[in-house]
Amino acid sequence: MILLPCPYCGLRNASEFRYVGELSERPDPNATGIEDWRAFLYMRDNPAGWTTETWFHRAGCRRHFVVERHTVTNEVRDSRLPAAQLRDREDERATGGNVADDRGGATY
Ligand SMILES: [Zn+2]
Repeated sequence: MILLPCPYCGLRNASEFRYVGELSERPDPNATGIEDWRAFLYMRDNPAGWTTETWFHRAGCRRHFVVERHTVTNEVRDSRLPAAQLRDREDERATGGNVADDRGGATY
């Protein structure tokens, strides 16, 4: 059984999640040629080792999060919120939002 750490719900069976894909940053569509855009859409590294990927907790909180996982051993060394959500939380902190002690993820 493979366990994945959701930053919202904690450790859960991998059957509760849907694999979304390797984490990749979307290029600027106004400054990207068709070959680079095609590479962003279709090309993946698919390493036999550590990779950073996005998962969706479909049978739990129904949120996306980022996992660093070893593709051979399925060892997980980090689980965190996506960068966009981390930025939103930093904005909440700047405006006095109640997110004290929330570092935006968990390390396992
Ligand atoms: Zn969850």
